[in-house]
Amino acid sequence: MPFTFSPIGIIRSPYSDKFGIPRQPGLVTAGSAYLELLPDFAREEAFKGIEGFSHVWLIFVFHDACLTAGWRPTVRPPRLGGRERVGVFASRAPYRPNPIGISAVEHLGLERNPTGLRLRLRGVDLLDGTPVLDLKPYVPYADAPPGVRSGFAVDGAAAHDWAVAFSPAAAAGVAAADPDGRRQLRLLIEQVLAQDPRPGYMDRYPGRAGFALRLYDLRVHWQVQGRTALVTAVGPDAAW
Ligand code: SAH
Repeated sequence: MPFTFSPIGIIRSPYSDKFGIPRQPGLVTAGSAYLELLPDFAREEAFKGIEGFSHVWLIFVFHDACLTAGWRPTVRPPRLGGRERVGVFASRAPYRPNPIGISAVEHLGLERNPTGLRLRLRGVDLLDGTPVLDLKPYVPYADAPPGVRSGFAVDGAAAHDWAVAFSPAAAAGVAAADPDGRRQLRLLIEQVLAQDPRPGYMDRYPGRAGFALRLYDLRVHWQVQGRTALVTAVGPDAAW
């Protein structure tokens, strides 16, 4: 029996491209992120009491995973270097029978502006434009039971602690793109690159040192030097 669901809102995040998105929520807290409610759901009363909760579950569609590709019983999680296979139901991979994701994220309250109602978020792991099907308060007594085992998914923050440095040209690019610091661009780049967003199989290409990703409307270039990511250029996407 198929079910049809419609989104309640759309995510706005710095992640304009899939490459570089943190692998789970909470790992990158800088940058601005929102859930923009669609007109039918842009009603404050539907959120009455949400201020009592610091975090919410977002239930969303992996809309940019190839939805017609079907699914496979095993996947290769990046956490295992992209080499080992685990069952799709033992993973949080986007490619699954129903491409639905869950993220527990901090919320910073509702904001009403002329264009509508939005919920400010911190620490999302979601592509800009992600459709959200539902939102529920995070309740630790039920959602964070004591003594859990977490398989191959060890503490993400501890696993990736790259140093991040900026060349003078990159620092100038950051200053030009975020002159008043409101976009937290420098911190955002630092947090994203500290996760080492390169695909797990990159150790098979030891000769490759230069990489690029997109944040907002900007291209960020960096070089791998030992366990340091040296940002070499930051600038408008159109300029490349
Ligand atoms: N917290 C979620 C996401 C885990 S997978 C869950 O556990 O269900 C995380 C990856 O999903 C990110 O690295 C990103 O590349 C990918 N992703 C995020 N939003 C997406 C979208 N809208 N469509 C496809 N992939 C997306």
